[in-house]
Amino acid sequence: MAQRKGQMVVISGPSGSGKSTICKKLLEDPRIVFSVSATTRKMRPGEVDGRDYHFLAIDEFKRRVAKGEFIEHAEVFGNMYGTLRAPMEEALAEGKISLLEIDVQGALQLKALGEPGIYVFIAPPDFEELRRRLKQRGTESPEVLERRLHKAEDEYRERVKYDHVVVNDDLARAVREVREKIGLEAEARR
Ligand code: 5GP
Repeated sequence: MAQRKGQMVVISGPSGSGKSTICKKLLEDPRIVFSVSATTRKMRPGEVDGRDYHFLAIDEFKRRVAKGEFIEHAEVFGNMYGTLRAPMEEALAEGKISLLEIDVQGALQLKALGEPGIYVFIAPPDFEELRRRLKQRGTESPEVLERRLHKAEDEYRERVKYDHVVVNDDLARAVREVREKIGLEAEARR
């Protein structure tokens, strides 16, 4: 394994917590690189293979799981998602912050493995707000929406296992708080 000069930062939280928006903002800092996950889900309009995800067929995903290429993988809403070890190690060897935006199961797998990093849980301000956000996205049927909310509630209970919990009630504030937790904000002020 190459020597790790950088740091792994795991951002996770329930679906609809706004974690991807926070990650987009964090990525404006050139010291942070996005860990591009692999997934078996279909590409959405506007997404680019290799930038947003490595879009893989199920067989290919399974083959790479068997080869041990993932440091974690999980099934989320019927699709497989996983973090590839090699690109993450490369970023860390270059002294970058490798940003993983992954679901709660994946984050807890990494924690259980003792994978060194900073684990941040993004919490929705409240569940009514989460319901509203998921509805607004408009991509789910009422049953799927209910299932997602239940899952979000279960995942919310896991927040105690993280190093930090950041409540996403105000985007700019939440981004600043995450940057502080990963030691970037203090530097910016100096
Ligand atoms: P979406 O399909 O909306 O892009 O992502 C669905 C969920 O999968 C999100 O909660 C996202 O954070 C999570 N996810 C994305 N990549 C990974 C990954 O590599 N591992 C795990 N465990 N979850 C991931």
